[in-house]
Amino acid sequence: MSSKKIKPKIGLESLCTWKPNISTTEEPHNVPIYATSSFDMNDLEQSIAIFNGEKPGFVYSRYDNPTVQAAAQKIATLEAGRLNHKTSAIMLSSGMAAITTLLHSILNKDDILLSHNGLYGGTTEIIDQLAEKIGFRVIYTNLNNLNQLKEICDVRPATAIYLESPSNPLLHCVDLAQLADFAKILKIKTIVDNTICTPALQRPLNLGIDYVVYSNTKYLSGHGNTISGCIVSNDTAMMQGPILKSMRLLGTNCSPFEAWLVYNGIKTLALRMSKQCENAARIAAYLNVHPAVKVVHHTSLAKHPDHDLASRQMTDHAPLMSFEVKGGLKAAGKVLNHLKMIKHATTLGDLDTLVLHPDTSSHRNISKKIKNKQGITSGLIRLSSGIENVDDLINDLAQAIGKIKN
Ligand code: PLP
Repeated sequence: MSSKKIKPKIGLESLCTWKPNISTTEEPHNVPIYATSSFDMNDLEQSIAIFNGEKPGFVYSRYDNPTVQAAAQKIATLEAGRLNHKTSAIMLSSGMAAITTLLHSILNKDDILLSHNGLYGGTTEIIDQLAEKIGFRVIYTNLNNLNQLKEICDVRPATAIYLESPSNPLLHCVDLAQLADFAKILKIKTIVDNTICTPALQRPLNLGIDYVVYSNTKYLSGHGNTISGCIVSNDTAMMQGPILKSMRLLGTNCSPFEAWLVYNGIKTLALRMSKQCENAARIAAYLNVHPAVKVVHHTSLAKHPDHDLASRQMTDHAPLMSFEVKGGLKAAGKVLNHLKMIKHATTLGDLDTLVLHPDTSSHRNISKKIKNKQGITSGLIRLSSGIENVDDLINDLAQAIGKIKN
């Protein structure tokens, strides 16, 4: 007698896609990774209210996501420097995505963007490319020279000013409060790339700057395991309007996993930055008197052109520096190839000390003429100091620089 087939009440296929109810009453102590592309809508009314922005909530992770939101809130709070504030942050997939999304949101055809020479190479490239595509004009000038800025703006008012302070890799600084005051009178939007300082050393919004951008990839996350960026501002209308819209439509959003890495990395930001700045000042002082070193670019040194400004504007001198060895590319190669503890890698801001050769990497697409004018020479080495024992770092530099004469 054949056994009678019992038809299950629910098919295997449906069981496979069934969602268990795992909601708990206890809040997770750490922010979890919400690895979900979408969120269940309880009913159409809720869906409409969230889409209309009448009710907070999540619908789709390109729009927003709880883990991404947690990291954004953390960065906004760091930037504001207090718990109750109106600062908001939008997380992006990289520092470049943050810069591109912001410039795309605020610049139109025939606008004028003021900026300065010596920006991170990728930033100069994207500014020039967007200028050509969108049709705005970029004027690179000295942003500390207000008379010159006024002369430029008298001819044609600028829409925005974009800057790095300190800049990568020469650590040039711009007087942020002075520039913000000037720009406010002329209704020019100001944007500062604060990647090298992080809010641990400098809070541009509190000095009157309109937008701050970060490559979170660097000191903010600090562990060299993520690529991400963000835009921070007190201008709620712009942040919730055109900038958020650009991020959502360009799809430059940050993934929950990357946001989670940034969120966790930030927990040690204060400790890391304090030690990294301390190590940087010691290394800069050592290199400054080394006979094989032509020049050291670090604002802790009294002879750096922006030493006074940086000492006033920042709570400490940043962990980034660059130094030029005598003997150009060949000498720089000797140093880079003989370092043992310090690693040669294409980033900065990790908690271990890293070096890079800007001329052939981060600034390789900038013309030789401009680089020479700026001081980005073939003998220049950029160093991002980490949290290691500083004597070990100095010993490593000493033995590698010692190889130049061989
Ligand atoms: N801003 C600065 C100062 C940088 O140094 C970099 C990258 O090195 C960027 C922005 C771009 O950041 P990301 O590599 O996260 O896109």
